[in-house]
Amino acid sequence: MIYRTLGKTGLRVSIVGYGASPLGAEFGKIDPEEGRRAVHHAIDCGINYFDVAPYYGRTLAETRLGEFLERKRHQVILATKVGRYDVDQFDYSARCVVNSVDESLRRLRTDFIDVIQIHDIEYGDRSQIIHETLPALRALTESGKVRFVGITGYPLMQIVDVISQVRVDTILSYCRYDLFDTTMDSMLTPAAKKYGVGLINASPLHMRLLTEKGAPDWHPAPRDVVEVGQKVAAWCRSQGVDIADLAMQFALDYDDVATTLVGMSKVAHVDSNVRAVGVTPDPRLLAEVRAMIRPVADVIWMEGRPENDDPGAVPKQS
Ligand code: NAD
Repeated sequence: MIYRTLGKTGLRVSIVGYGASPLGAEFGKIDPEEGRRAVHHAIDCGINYFDVAPYYGRTLAETRLGEFLERKRHQVILATKVGRYDVDQFDYSARCVVNSVDESLRRLRTDFIDVIQIHDIEYGDRSQIIHETLPALRALTESGKVRFVGITGYPLMQIVDVISQVRVDTILSYCRYDLFDTTMDSMLTPAAKKYGVGLINASPLHMRLLTEKGAPDWHPAPRDVVEVGQKVAAWCRSQGVDIADLAMQFALDYDDVATTLVGMSKVAHVDSNVRAVGVTPDPRLLAEVRAMIRPVADVIWMEGRPENDDPGAVPKQS
């Protein structure tokens, strides 16, 4: 495993991070015992950064992760979130997020959270995020309930705007640095460097689009993007390569992010994703795949309040 420092937090994080949303059955039902084995195997492989949220499985992912980390909590850096509780349920008020942290602490069976993040800030009022939510979470660092404070979201310009105005320790975006979309590099990375904020890349498989199984029904990308994903997977298969392996190699080959979070609930996926560490993608195959993707590369979809969308975002497919 390779470790990098997360911004100015001083935390040394594994470049493969454990995304726990599949533990909440976000991609379909899972076998919880296999999920437990996947969590333990990830720790044995050197993965030390774990990301979850009350939203994933409407608390199920946190409950399961808390159980699976029993007696192993000290081996991991634990990140969870506040503010998003269902597909269309958000509350970024100070009162809600402070209670939310207490509930997460109970479910995660711990007395502190390493990184607390405001979940999907594009669904909130930016002024409230800056003047109410962030200060409420920052205050919790004094009581020791949380150590660092971050924000997450899909549109990138709103994140840049927030970190230019107020201290934030970490930022997380998803589907913005992978084989389909590399806009994180031009739109977010320079700001993360400028403000010394820890940068986290989530969903290197473009939320399962870059796998043999393909995108889940709820995937927001337009239909033509999903279809290109299927073609690329078939092409890789014909070359004797699993598209997920190439996608992980590509995402991990980006030194500016501290950790790349991939959703895992299976031991075999932990193994293949860890195997991608330090492997340079085959240049010929990568060039072919990127050429196939080019007509739909960097297609982004609308997410959250319209005023928070990045320019050029298209309506969601689902
Ligand atoms: P992802 O791109 O990591 O894809 C996960 C899916 O791919 C799951 O179905 C998983 O079973 C499957 N998979 C994983 N490894 C595989 C492999 N080697 N071969 C085949 N299939 C494989 O998408 P994600 O889970 O949405 O993102 C990763 C994590 O990032 C999440 O679990 C979550 O913790 C975090 N995240 C946060 C936000 C946010 O804060 N707004 C948004 C998205 C993701």
